[in-house]
Amino acid sequence: MNKSLSRRKFLSGTSMSVAGLMLESNLRNVGLKKQTGNMDQEESSSRDVMKEVMKYRKIDAHAHLYFSPDTIEEQLGFADRLGIEKLSISRPFTGDVGTHQDVIECNNLIINAIKKHPDRFIGFFTLIPTFAKESLEELKRCVDAGMSGYKGYLQVKVNDPSYYPIIEKLIDLKMICFMHTYSGLGRGGYRTKYGNLYPNETIPEDMIDIAKRYPEMTFQWAHIGAGGDWEYQCKALKDYPNIYIDTSGSNNEAEMVNYAIKYIGEDRIFYGSDTSYYQGVSKILDADLTDAQRRKIFFENYNNVLRKGGYNVD
Ligand SMILES: [Zn+2]
Repeated sequence: MNKSLSRRKFLSGTSMSVAGLMLESNLRNVGLKKQTGNMDQEESSSRDVMKEVMKYRKIDAHAHLYFSPDTIEEQLGFADRLGIEKLSISRPFTGDVGTHQDVIECNNLIINAIKKHPDRFIGFFTLIPTFAKESLEELKRCVDAGMSGYKGYLQVKVNDPSYYPIIEKLIDLKMICFMHTYSGLGRGGYRTKYGNLYPNETIPEDMIDIAKRYPEMTFQWAHIGAGGDWEYQCKALKDYPNIYIDTSGSNNEAEMVNYAIKYIGEDRIFYGSDTSYYQGVSKILDADLTDAQRRKIFFENYNNVLRKGGYNVD
């Protein structure tokens, strides 16, 4: 932090990263005083962040589990401290290629977790659609095991024809087609929406293409906070009512959520963390929103879409 900037002035701004810092501090019960050396008691209580945090019901529309034994308890610990009732968890196979066996192992991780904690986790399965026959079998296995939606990764673009039979099944099941997506920031003043690292990563134009082909399918555009060009993403996706966006990701530029509200609107935005828990909550708290809009983003929008297939919380 810039030492010449007074602490009070710094906190009076509505910067999301500051709220994230405060939140983290509150949650860990470690005073900011310790970190900055110049904070007094009065300032630490000037905004009761935890009261605001706990005021809203929440479903995390973008959460993950990993292959480490302590990950479930960690997830639930964060969720408890932040008042997150349920987390939609997935474990896509994260390489840009993979085998069908990789897919099965990832899905088994999620199936075991939702069986252990059905009251806290909503399970999303993953597939690599180019394994056409196996994918449809795996889809059925996952649905039978209690999964509630689909999470695609970057092996195949969402508008690739190999996705058509999967999307048609998801339509029958009234499940969300949730995709890892990205559109890279440009260089030298150009916002190159094609500047992605992986050739088969879904960009806005791909999702728009498939959303037009299947208007009855609900798509979730992942993590506008993933470090890409969120302004471009919001502008590109604004006219497609069956595309929702989630706010997750570790990037928290101050105007991101305000910008999303302006272009996407308050009804098509889901709150999510993508494992950036404090930031995920604080960027919604610190955006320029009404109470009703916060309730929609934290909980209602996502729950309403889940309700279509009976996967909702209540
Ligand atoms: Zn993610």
